[in-house]
Parts: sequence; C-alpha cells; structure tokens
Amino acid sequence: MQLTGQNYIAGVTSAEGAETFFSVNPRSKERDDLPYHNATAAEVDRAVEAAAAAFAEARNYSSTRIADFLDEIADQIEALGDDLLHSADRETGLGLPRLTGERARTTGQFRAFGAMLREGSYLRPIINSEAAGQPSIRQMQFPVGPVAIFAASNFPFAFAVAGGDTASALAAGCPAVVKAHPGHPATSEMFALAFKAAIAAQGFPAGAFSMLQGSGIDVGQWLVAHDGIEAVGFTGSLRGGRAIYDAAARRPRPIPVYAEMGSVNPVVITQAALAQRADEIADGLVASVTMGTGQFCTNPGLILLQDSPAAQHFIAAVSDKMSAAPAGVLLNETIARGLEGAVSQTIANPEINVLTGGEAIADSDYFCFSNTVMQTSASAIRADDRLQVEHFGPVTLFVVCEDADDLRATVDALEGNLTSTIHAEADELDDISDLLHQLREKAGRVIWNGFPTGVAVVHAMQHGGPYPATTAPGTTSVGMNAIYRFMRPIAFQNVPDALLPDALKDGNPLGIMRLVDDVYTDGAQ
Ligand code: NAP
Repeated sequence: MQLTGQNYIAGVTSAEGAETFFSVNPRSKERDDLPYHNATAAEVDRAVEAAAAAFAEARNYSSTRIADFLDEIADQIEALGDDLLHSADRETGLGLPRLTGERARTTGQFRAFGAMLREGSYLRPIINSEAAGQPSIRQMQFPVGPVAIFAASNFPFAFAVAGGDTASALAAGCPAVVKAHPGHPATSEMFALAFKAAIAAQGFPAGAFSMLQGSGIDVGQWLVAHDGIEAVGFTGSLRGGRAIYDAAARRPRPIPVYAEMGSVNPVVITQAALAQRADEIADGLVASVTMGTGQFCTNPGLILLQDSPAAQHFIAAVSDKMSAAPAGVLLNETIARGLEGAVSQTIANPEINVLTGGEAIADSDYFCFSNTVMQTSASAIRADDRLQVEHFGPVTLFVVCEDADDLRATVDALEGNLTSTIHAEADELDDISDLLHQLREKAGRVIWNGFPTGVAVVHAMQHGGPYPATTAPGTTSVGMNAIYRFMRPIAFQNVPDALLPDALKDGNPLGIMRLVDDVYTDGAQ
C-alpha cells in the first residue's frame, strides 16, 4: 500500500509542515524512510472548519443512515487486509495474534454501534405530556458537534484512529478530528484511507473525519484550543491527559475532556484464596502483568495481601515466574524511557524492596525492560502517594499488610482506578462484603476472582473511574455507553408535533422504546 506521510484533512492529503518524524520498529529500533509531516496550526484550523461544515450538513441524518456509515467503515477496515496487521506489528511489536484479535474488536465496535443505532432507543426519548399546570416536556439526546480525539500508543486499532472514541463520536453523529499517535503513523494513515473510502461510499460530508499527524504537543494543544471543537476523547498518560484537560478548561468557552489515563488496578487476595488457589492465582497474575508487555491501562500493578508465610511464599513464586518470563517488546522509546523513569522514582523510596528486575536491559536490540516485582508495606503506600504511580510495563508492586485493619486502611487510601479486583472464596462472602464495596468506591469495574486485563465491548461495560483514572468518572470509554460522552440531552417545551424530531413525535413513527409519562413503551403516546 502506497503511503504519503501526510495529514488527511476532509479526505485531502496535506503536508504543509516542515517538521517531520519517522515510524520506528520497536523490535529493531530501525526507522522507516518515509517522513511523516507534523500538522501545522493552519491545517488544524482547516480540519476543524471542515468538521464544523460537516456537522452543519449531517446533524439531522437519521440513525439508520449513520449506522450504514459505521458498517461501511468496518467493511473498509477489513478491506485493508493483512497490510494493516503487518504495519501495526512492525510499528508496535504487539504481534499478529494480538493484533488480529484487536482488529476484530475494532470492526465489531463499529458494527455494534450500528446495531444500537438501528434499534433506536439509545436516543433516550423521554416524554412528559401536558398535565394540569404542567407544560409538555420532551427530551432526547443530540450530538454535541466536532470532537477531537487523541489516539493511544498501546492499542493501534481499538483505542487509536479507528478506536472506540472515534466510533462512539461518529455513532453519536459528531465529526471526528483525530490526532494520530506518533508511535504508529503508517497504521494511522491506512485507517485514514479506510475512512475516506467509507465517506465516499456512503455520501457523507468529507469533513466528517480528518486525521492529523504530530510528534510533540503542539498539534494537540491547537486542536483542544480551537473554538470549533466541542468535546475531547483521550487515552494515554496522566500527564498528557491532565495537560489537555487544563488546556480545555482555560479556553474562553471550556469544553468537556474525557481522558482515560493512568491506573494501577489494585488486586486484593484473601488468605483463604491463597490457601486454596495460590498456584492458580500466581499463574493468572503473571500472565496478566506480562500480557502485551504489561502495556495495558488495566494492568494489575498493585497487589494487596495480609502478611503470612503463605503470602511470602506466594510473592516469591510470582517473582520467580516473572523472572523466568522473557522480557517482551515495549512499544517505543518514549514508553521505555517513561517506564524506566517511573520505576526509578519508585525504587528511590527506601521502603521499596525490588524482588526481581527493576532496571532496563542494557544493550538490547529492542525496546524492553526487565520483568519487575517489588514489595512494600501498607504504611509506606499510605505515607507516599507517589507509590501509586502507574508503571506502564511488566511491573507489579506487592503491598504487604499487617492485618485486616491495615488492609482496609490501605484500600481507603487508594486513588481512583479503572478496576479493582478481589480474589476470595465462596465461604467468606459475609466477611468480605464490606471490603468489596470499599473497593467499589475506588474503581469503575470490580472483578471477582479474575484479572483486569481484557475489556469486553458490551452495553454493561464500564471503563472509567475516579480521578486520576479519568477526568470524567460518570462516563465510560469502552462499551455502548461511550456514545453519551458525545451527546447531550435537549428538552423541548410545548413545541408543536410537526417541529419535533421523529423520536419525540406523538405517533412514535420510529417505533422505538420511550419513557412516556413514567412508563417505558414502544407505542404511540
Ligand atoms: P501520552 O504521552 O499521554 O500521549 C498521548 C497523546 O497525547 C499523544 O498524541 C501526545 O502527543 C498527546 N499529548 C501528550 N501530552 C500532551 C500535551 N501536554 N498537550 C497536547 N498533547 C499531548 O501517552 P503515550 O505516548 O501513549 O505514552 C506515554 C505514557 O502514557 C506511557 O509511558 C504510560 O505511562 C502512559 N499510557 C497510559 C495509557 C493508559 O491507558 N492508561 C495508555 C498509553 C500510555 P505526542 O506524542 O505527539 O507528544
């Protein structure tokens, strides 16, 4: 496939910027020859203006028309064939099996939103008819307008140019301006070609999708500051997400930023669970920490247990297994340096004991870091928030608590996370109920006897959590509810039926489920 290294602004390639960067293979540290052009401020302007024009044209498109577009995008991604897989593998080192699964998730995501749009009740129509002394009020969800999306490095498909943020924004009816991640520019350009083809095939306005390349923070900062952008979707570091959140808040007209950032995903293991299943839990934990070289926002990075000979034996077993596992490939140099920095900062705390790893592997041909297990005390974690920092790689930290009270006090001191997990036995449900609900307060998803890596794209999924896991704990970036980040409710008061959207008309011409005078019905009013 012939790539250009250019930006795609409303379907037109553009390379006005003098600054360029290159795609790097993390397995060999070799860079490709094709220069990718950082977008300029003028190109960012054009992309946002095209998105605004597209929104003006398409804001009243029916749900079924948008659903056809989403299905077409999935088809066009599949039409890219194995070139897409090989490109992403070359740029991320994630491996073909993982990427094949991620592609299926990505196309499945578009089709799942399509199905939801065809069913129709996602519009959440609510009707309160006129009653004595009360006006008629009718509410439903509408798209917010152009959305800026920041692609993540660690999911070149599922959280990137064609990832969940883009899928949910387009499903909502919002044009998307995507800042591609510089870790996989070739793969990003392939996706831009798929979007261009889908737009042409479905007759959508060209500005419904633009993709900007950029290495460095300027492109993202221009994009967030642009008055034509109405909301932001972001996946990446706490530092990056927070900077974008602050930039959006500084605008004369602030906008919401849905940033999904760092998480250490605490796992509590009870003594009974250790007594029953220590080997099984150790195997599962090591597989989860090393999966994708630990580069998951749901990586189990903090393991809490009560001190005992069995706990010490378990920690030693996990450490041995981590030490024996081969060091995987890290995504890029920035991730490798970031991991080294985060682990060095943690190790500098005298209360941290490194059981295995803890350092970069010298003279390696590929980007990597030693599989790392550390141990500390509950009091040390409570005394220093920096020990709750995300180590984005194959790293986990055991927190050994003196007793049940020490454990509970430590869970209380945890920051917000995407997930929390508990390993326990069926005969201790009464004893651990409070603990489970304490863990609930700290995360968006609570996992029982499992591991947090792996996030299903389904209606019930919640992939979010209290800050610093996200900047908007009431929302999710995975699953069907992700669409509501890019929609807002509007109520119509006493507006004539002929002027109402179909979803709110008396006769319910769409035949969709609505809440009418406090009763769910798919009938007419
Ligand atoms: P990142 O540094 O947060 O970057 C993500 C995107 O945001 C990139 O496009 C980046 O642009 C942009 N960006 C970063 N800071 C910005 C700022 N101040 N203003 C405007 N744009 C900004 O994430 P990353 O490159 O993927 O990885 C770095 C670290 O993020 C990792 O080591 C890891 O700790 C963490 N991470 C976390 C998750 C998660 O899901 N929790 C996922 C991936 C990474 P440029 O790259 O062009 O500068």
